[in-house]
Amino acid sequence: MQSIPELKTKLPGVGTTIFTVMSQLALDHDAVNLSQGFPDFDGPAELLDGVSHYLHHGRNQYAPMAGVPSLREALAKKVQSLYGPDVDPDTEITITSGATEALFCALSVVVRPGDEVIVFDPAYDSYDPAVTLNGGRTIHLPLTAPDFRIDWNRVEASLGARTRAIVLNSPHNPTGSVLRGEDLQALRALASRHEFFLISDEVYEHIIFDGVAHESLLRYEDLLPRSFVISSFGKTYHTTGWKIGYCVAPKALSEEFRRIHQFVTFCSNTPVQLALADFLSAHPEHYLTLPDFYQSKRDLFCRLVAPSRFRLKPSAGTYFQLLDYSEISDLDDVSLAREFTVREKLASIPVSVFYDDPPEQKLLRFCFCKDDATLARGAEILCRL
Ligand code: PMP
Ligand code: GLN
Repeated sequence: MQSIPELKTKLPGVGTTIFTVMSQLALDHDAVNLSQGFPDFDGPAELLDGVSHYLHHGRNQYAPMAGVPSLREALAKKVQSLYGPDVDPDTEITITSGATEALFCALSVVVRPGDEVIVFDPAYDSYDPAVTLNGGRTIHLPLTAPDFRIDWNRVEASLGARTRAIVLNSPHNPTGSVLRGEDLQALRALASRHEFFLISDEVYEHIIFDGVAHESLLRYEDLLPRSFVISSFGKTYHTTGWKIGYCVAPKALSEEFRRIHQFVTFCSNTPVQLALADFLSAHPEHYLTLPDFYQSKRDLFCRLVAPSRFRLKPSAGTYFQLLDYSEISDLDDVSLAREFTVREKLASIPVSVFYDDPPEQKLLRFCFCKDDATLARGAEILCRL
């Protein structure tokens, strides 16, 4: 009999992601799927045509490792005009296979065995495994109720000799909170006193509401030398399945980032990058339409759900809306999300899964990047409960 080595998981406690679990359950039960965050409508036709054009005109081989130059150049212009800094497209921007790859590479650059990384709970689920796989440990700090803000005094008290990085996410998934100017001032003050890298997950940078400006780390010259700023075309162009993201970081950090990126994927797919470059250059106003586009979806969903027994939490950005179900059920959120999907045919995401130590709260996350008719069907179910 052959024997093979014993397999011991490097990610104990990690199962299949909640997004996969809930979307599959929604499919199995033919439920309205307001769980996993993806639009049920297409991106701009001209962009889709662009991909088709490049697919049919021989642009189907490897892209340059750091990304198609025209895309990096278009991004450098966008960064300059939106946030101010002159970033060098040759040395400071890397195109990745989704923001997920960029987050993994950035965390792999900075985290060494024994290092600590601060994340804020509820935290997007890809940060912790990337830290763990690199031998680090996450320090989970709660965002404080009721509006899910960072307690900067607590951050400072948690910084120690082992602290290597802080992961920020604004607009924030799953709560929809956003960093404000005063948060950035507190962060800059901390950065002037302590050594740490910053990994800033800004995939929802254009999905921010009520006239509030996105506080990109790219706006702050003093933070740039220590920052990896990560975003995703999937959110901006309603094309989550294309998995193209990018990382902006100073030359020294980008060099290390690319050293890892080249052995994770080497490069991301060519025709999509070429089409994104054309579209971004031809229609720089497109991403500027996103706040209004998604704010009207948020407002529609909230208006339709208002008569229900759910309590709406504020959503200042992202395409997620938290609903408090305390008046409806005593069940925990994981059980209730499952029950609603199977019995009521409406899928959502339980929020407790994004916590290391979930607090006493009864929250489900609903995704509103859906056709108005889908939102109306979802809201109708919620109003019956
Ligand atoms: N960060 C956050 C907060 C997200 O919601 C997502 C969405 N999937 C990602 C990162 C990953 O983005 P991508 O699909 O481009 O990998
Ligand atoms: N970011 C998406 C969400 O929050 C899902 C991404 C994924 O499925 N990995 O729903």
